[in-house]
Amino acid sequence: MMIRRKGSTALLCTRKSVTVLFVSIFMFLSTMLFVNNVNAEVFKATAYCSCEKCCDKDPSDKWYGITATGKRARWGTVAVDKRVIKLGSRLRIKGYPDTIFRAEDVGGAIKGNRIDVWFPSHREALKFGVQKIVVQRVRNG
Ligand SMILES: [Zn+2]
Repeated sequence: MMIRRKGSTALLCTRKSVTVLFVSIFMFLSTMLFVNNVNAEVFKATAYCSCEKCCDKDPSDKWYGITATGKRARWGTVAVDKRVIKLGSRLRIKGYPDTIFRAEDVGGAIKGNRIDVWFPSHREALKFGVQKIVVQRVRNG
């Protein structure tokens, strides 16, 4: 009798720890998925415009205002290090809830966790200065 009871208690305990194990695996996986989904990272951000100072292209140049992906730079265009963010990716930047940014350009100084935000005028680009920003990749965007 005593041995049997001991045995069943032990079995119960095993079941419990298996449940705990499954719950912790589940929680671990869901955390991983969540982190992957949000994928927010801090980037050092600078700004640029299409002007000669920023892009070294004269307004008469046929490539003036044209990004590395061949698209015309416009609000929402950002330059990235394509080894860090794939060109064509859509991004959200904390502080700009109405804009989905597009990684469509590259720049010589844009390496690693760096991002260059395009502005329509040089004055606005200067005003932006250098900032630490939180960048989030938009999935299936
Ligand atoms: Zn400029």
